[in-house]
Amino acid sequence: MRKGILSRLHGYRYAHTLGCERAAKMLARRFGGDEEKAAFAAILHDITKHLSREEQLNLCEKYGIIICNVEKNEPKMLHGKTAAAIARSEYGAPEDVCTAISCHTTGKYGMTLLDKILYLADYIEETRDFPGVDKARELAREDIDKALLYCYDQTLCDLIARGKLIHSDTIGAYNDMARQGVRWREDKD
Ligand code: FE
Ligand code: FE
Repeated sequence: MRKGILSRLHGYRYAHTLGCERAAKMLARRFGGDEEKAAFAAILHDITKHLSREEQLNLCEKYGIIICNVEKNEPKMLHGKTAAAIARSEYGAPEDVCTAISCHTTGKYGMTLLDKILYLADYIEETRDFPGVDKARELAREDIDKALLYCYDQTLCDLIARGKLIHSDTIGAYNDMARQGVRWREDKD
């Protein structure tokens, strides 16, 4: 099944998916998650990312995915939800794997360990190269919540800087960490 899934991915997305699988397994080992489920979720997480806006919307219609206003404007954001639908219907993925795939793009309030592992693996996997990725990798060695909050902070700042829309689930994800008093910055005083 793994080979079949990988054959649907091309170019950078193939390398990114393999990197994500390795990172997800490593994080599962490090933080006591289910390695097999983490790998399964990673292999499928971007399976619909190459699809056009129309194809994303068609899949949403087909699988009864309800679209919010932000997603209507940014249909690429839907690739997590459409990939989860494909994972469930074509590959029989268990519900917790589908949930992790579904929220890997935006994050959300109340993420499970598996959700967190996939989100972070997608951000820090070895082919990623952008400002801040090394800090995320460093934090991910110690504390998954600190690393996640760092990712949310970076993502939110980047979206604001580029004048992009922010999904309400990303704010939910941020609030969830902030509510629990998670901090990644070292307090100076
Ligand atoms: Fe993705
Ligand atoms: Fe990805």
